[in-house]
Amino acid sequence: MLLQDKVAIVTGAWQGIGKGIALALAREGCQVAVADVNETGCQETVSELEALGVKALAVRCDVSSATEVAALFQRTIEAFGKVDIVVNNAGIYPFVPFADMQEADWDKVLDVNLKSIFLMSHEADKALSEGGRIISISSIASLIGFQSLVHYSASKAGMNGLTRGLALELAPRKITVNAVAPGAIDTPGASQMNLDPKAREQTLAMIPLNRQGVPEDIANAVVFLASEKASYITGQVLVVDGGWTLR
Ligand code: NAP
Repeated sequence: MLLQDKVAIVTGAWQGIGKGIALALAREGCQVAVADVNETGCQETVSELEALGVKALAVRCDVSSATEVAALFQRTIEAFGKVDIVVNNAGIYPFVPFADMQEADWDKVLDVNLKSIFLMSHEADKALSEGGRIISISSIASLIGFQSLVHYSASKAGMNGLTRGLALELAPRKITVNAVAPGAIDTPGASQMNLDPKAREQTLAMIPLNRQGVPEDIANAVVFLASEKASYITGQVLVVDGGWTLR
C-alpha cells in the first residue's frame, strides 16, 4: 500500500471526481476526511470508505468560507491527529455566455474555485509536516479556451499560478504542491453535458484516446502525486485528458 496510515482531506468528495479520489486514497491505506457542502452525501462516502477498512470522517464545509475551512482542519486533526495530504477538488463550472455573465457569477466561481485554494493552502501550511502534499484539481480549461466558461478558465489558470508559487515557498519544508488538469470526465456535475448525444459525440471527437475519462483516471494521478514515488515532483500541472490538448 502506497499511503498506509497517511491522513488526507478531500474536498467536494461526496460525488464525482472527489469521491473517486477519496476511494482511491482509502484503497492505499489512507484515512480520509470527506468534506463537502452536502453533509448527507459526505456520510454516504464515509460508509463506503469504512467498508474498505479505513477510518473516515464526514465534515460539512463550504470551501469558500475561511471559518469553515479552519474548522475542517481542526476537526480532522482532532479525529486523526495530523494531516498529510490535502486534495482541493471542490469546484463548480456553471456555463454562462460572457455577455450574460454578471459580477455575482464571476465572484461565485472565483470564490469556490480559487479563493478556496488560498484558504485551504493557509491551513495546510500550518498543518502539514515534511513530506506533506497539496494537490489541486485544475482543468484543461486553464490551458485552452471553452465557450461560456470565461470565469471558470480564469479560476483554474489562477490555480495553476498559485500552485507554482506555493510550490516554491513550501519546497524548503519538503512539501510538494501540484495540480492535476482533467479533460472530460464522466461525473454527476458533468452529466448535463452528456445527456445530449450530439454533444457527447462532439466531445468524443476531441479525445484521441476515444473515451471520456472516469473519476478513477484522475484519482490514479492523485494517488501517484500523493505517494513517495512523486517526492521529486513539485509545482507541476499534470494533464489527464486522453490527449485532448495534444492538437
Ligand atoms: P461534481 O460532480 O459537481 O462534484 C463536485 C462536488 O463539489 C459536489 O459534491 C459539490 O457539492 C461539491 N461542492 C460544490 N461547491 C462546493 C463548496 N463551495 N464547498 C464544498 N464542496 C462544494 O464535479 P466533478 O465533475 O466531480 O468536478 C470535480 C472537480 O474537477 C472540480 O474542481 C472541477 O472543476 C474539476 N474538473 C472536472 C471535469 C469534468 O469533466 N468533470 C473536468 C475538468 C475539471 P454539490 O453537488 O452539493 O454542490
